[in-house]
Amino acid sequence: MAFFSNLLSPGLRYSGLSWALRHTLQKNKTTILMFHQPEAVFFDKALSELKKRYNIIPLSLLIKSLKNKTIKIPERSIAITLDDGRAENLRLLPVLEKHNVTVTIFLISGITDTMQRPWFYAVKDRQFKKSLKEMSDSVRLAALKRYGYEQDQVFEERIMLNKKEIQSMKESGLVGFGAHTMTHPILPRCSDSKAAKEIQLSKIAAEALTHHPCSVFSFPNGEYSERDIRICKKAGYEAAVTLDTGFNSKNTDPFRLKRISVPDSGNISEFLVKASGAWAFFKVLAGKQKRTRRHSGL
Ligand SMILES: [Zn+2]
Repeated sequence: MAFFSNLLSPGLRYSGLSWALRHTLQKNKTTILMFHQPEAVFFDKALSELKKRYNIIPLSLLIKSLKNKTIKIPERSIAITLDDGRAENLRLLPVLEKHNVTVTIFLISGITDTMQRPWFYAVKDRQFKKSLKEMSDSVRLAALKRYGYEQDQVFEERIMLNKKEIQSMKESGLVGFGAHTMTHPILPRCSDSKAAKEIQLSKIAAEALTHHPCSVFSFPNGEYSERDIRICKKAGYEAAVTLDTGFNSKNTDPFRLKRISVPDSGNISEFLVKASGAWAFFKVLAGKQKRTRRHSGL
């Protein structure tokens, strides 16, 4: 992907291909972006550029429009989400006020307002982290214990949002909150009872943290199964966001909302190409080319 990053991104941006893909062929669709903890300066720049190209709408408006087809949403709309609920998100509040933009933050409800950390922030080794995502949940927890991390471990520095910060964000009227499980396991690797607990309890805990109904869920790592969708519906959520590639139309399943992962810092042209969906488009293209090559034996 370094090839795309170094050579294609600026070219794509200036050639207008990414613009063309998103703004003509897909103009009636809604993009949902996923950030984690963007730097305030980068986020400010990103919002300025997005506002020139898109209509930024609250995620809740898209969800309402899927339920009630008479609700119209603007052309070229985009909704902004942030996963995990890192304490740094509070620094974005002045930026949101400056641009009058609404975002949705997905809280890891069981770790929010504590001195604990999600497991993937404790593990630095990328390869190990990747392999942990593939393990069954109990094997993952045992491997983490051997590594020196336990779920209820308390750290000196707080990295997750606390109740007070959540309250001030909520009072701004520019931040909505959803749930992102209790402890951020990879749901399809969990037993039925663990998955049910993580999905159901995180809704209740998010409501206690925000003093507001929690109606939307975010699947950790974008991974879900049919069972997990069933649990979300039973728990009373109205919608769930994934990391399935693409844009959302009036006919998109509200429990399989498509989302695009974007960087929290770095080059703004690369950010815009990723936000346009062109990046994902070329990734799919590259994958297809590889498959074709394998088939043809080259
Ligand atoms: Zn997450």
